[in-house]
Amino acid sequence: MAIIVLDPGHGGTDPGAVNGSCQEKKYTLDIALKVRSYLQNNYQATVLMTRTTDTTVSLASRTAYANNNGADYFVSIHINAGGGTGFESFIYDGSVSSNTIAWRQTLHDTIISRIGSKWSVTDRGKKRANFHVLRETSMPAVLTENLFIDTTQDLNKLNNASFITDLANATGEGIAKALVLPRKSTVETLPSF
Ligand SMILES: [Zn+2]
Repeated sequence: MAIIVLDPGHGGTDPGAVNGSCQEKKYTLDIALKVRSYLQNNYQATVLMTRTTDTTVSLASRTAYANNNGADYFVSIHINAGGGTGFESFIYDGSVSSNTIAWRQTLHDTIISRIGSKWSVTDRGKKRANFHVLRETSMPAVLTENLFIDTTQDLNKLNNASFITDLANATGEGIAKALVLPRKSTVETLPSF
């Protein structure tokens, strides 16, 4: 079974980006937990998380966790800041595997197709950067930046439970499509009588 490591950005003493009482670390954990549920409910895969509560986890610990667990895919989930709107994704800007490129394309396009027009989310594009979690992971890795905490129209969506569910399900579906995860059988075994 494929092993997927979900990485909710920040946590514990590191709130990530902040807007008033709204903290990036809470959204990333909420989204990641819902992505895990979506995958576990619909697909056959082992889903691990670098954190499942509001705890401090170093970047080195996150990538070591994925490497030591032999993960097939590493998905880091973040909320953007700095003025702007919409969704963007990153892969490492150095040498990467063909799966890194192909899986990111599938994940990114699936998310945009599911939330882009429905929620008026701008596609900021497929980007590359020298981020620790992308560079130090030994398997394909992607980092998603899910809207802007400091832009009112984006923050309103992040505070909408229906949007978060759609975003998490879209992320889960994108991961499943990328890795061609087998579906969980929906046919229950009938009791013998
Ligand atoms: Zn972040």
